[in-house]
Amino acid sequence: MAIMIAKLIVSRALLLILLGTVRAAATRSDPYCPHIPNNGDKNNHLLERTLNVHITPHTHDDVGWLKTVDQYFYGLNNTIQQAHVALILDNVLNELQDPYTAHNRTFTYVEMKFFSKWYLALPPVLKSSLKELINKEQFSFANGGWCMHDEAATHYMGMIDQTTLGHQFLLKELGVVPKVGWQIDPFGHSQAQAELFA
Ligand SMILES: [Zn+2]
Repeated sequence: MAIMIAKLIVSRALLLILLGTVRAAATRSDPYCPHIPNNGDKNNHLLERTLNVHITPHTHDDVGWLKTVDQYFYGLNNTIQQAHVALILDNVLNELQDPYTAHNRTFTYVEMKFFSKWYLALPPVLKSSLKELINKEQFSFANGGWCMHDEAATHYMGMIDQTTLGHQFLLKELGVVPKVGWQIDPFGHSQAQAELFA
């Protein structure tokens, strides 16, 4: 896997985005992103000058690459790579509950190996808080596999098995079925992945 630096930068950038000024989805009422009605008036210059940008904070945390899974999770061996997945999730849960800013923040988690390890160790009160955020669609899941597998050199049985494992965890623990396919580190494209998403 050769794009780790980019992934790390993306991961950290996305976390910073979350902690910064993430705006809500277009369907929510948001004073920072007002809806401007298009009345069919071709001279509606306000509409023409408006550009709404929607940012979706999400993860791509490699389930083992330059470090072991536990080193990534606990933030160990950071001379090799700065990565601390448990801290990302702790911060996300905290920020999504901030009474002053939580209303316009969302987060999407992807890799169930890390999520399950973190979730199963949460105290009951935080599990309840997380479930509330999931019900409000502030915390959501995409892909939902145990990891985000490669495609080009990966056998389709492995792709199916690891995706199934992650989805089974989500269904059993949270009653969630991911509806968004999300594959941003594929190293090639395969027919098997397309069929998994279908
Ligand atoms: Zn990756």
